[in-house]
Parts: sequence; structure tokens; C-alpha cells
Amino acid sequence: MQLRCTYCQTMFAIGREDMLAALEHMEENKLIYYDAHCPKCRRANRVERARMERFFPDWKNAIKTMLKDSAQAETAAEKPAAGTGAVKTAAAPEAAAKPAKKSAPKTKPAAASAKKPAGTKKK
Ligand SMILES: [Zn+2]
Repeated sequence: MQLRCTYCQTMFAIGREDMLAALEHMEENKLIYYDAHCPKCRRANRVERARMERFFPDWKNAIKTMLKDSAQAETAAEKPAAGTGAVKTAAAPEAAAKPAKKSAPKTKPAAASAKKPAGTKKK
């Protein structure tokens, strides 16, 4: 939708995605207007929610389809990654666990032996 900045009279447009985000934000926070920031002077122009809904009456369905698309995109991305990732991660935990186990016992006796002499010397 086209807007005219009330401060500097610059014409600027709000895209569909911006309007969706704005409408979603207003719905969540129970707001009746949206602050559209002018690209030139960066001041907030209040746009009434009802006015934006007139431009984008189907916004609730648009959010639903957008969420579906993103969910499908995620599952589609996970499928090929799971096949190749399973082979890599199967070997990775062993390699990562071994040095961690070895280093853990080393530090514990070192810390314990360091404390004992320090305590006996003081007393
Ligand atoms: Zn402006």
C-alpha cells in the first residue's frame, strides 16, 4: 500500500510481507494502528489497522499459508540432511567423547594433588 509521510511528504510503499508482519504484530499486541517508518526522515507514520486490513483483507489466510510453506520448506530441507548427517554424526560422538574422557581424569588428580600440599604447608 502507498503511504505519504506526514512529516516530509515522501511517498513510500509498504510491501505485502511488511503488512503481514504489521498486522500480526497489531493482532498480538491488540493495537489499532501501525507505525510505518518513513524511508527518508525515518519518522513513524501511524497507519490505522482497519485501513491496512482494507488493503489486505486476506492477511490471516496469508499468514497461515506462509507458515505452511515455511514448515514444508523445513521438512524438505531436513530429509536429505538426515540421510547424510546420520553417517557423519554416528562417528562424531565417539571421536568427540574419547578426548573428553581422557582429559577429565587428568585434570581431577592434578587439582586434588595440588590442593593437598597447599593445605598441609599452610597448616
Ligand atoms: Zn518522512
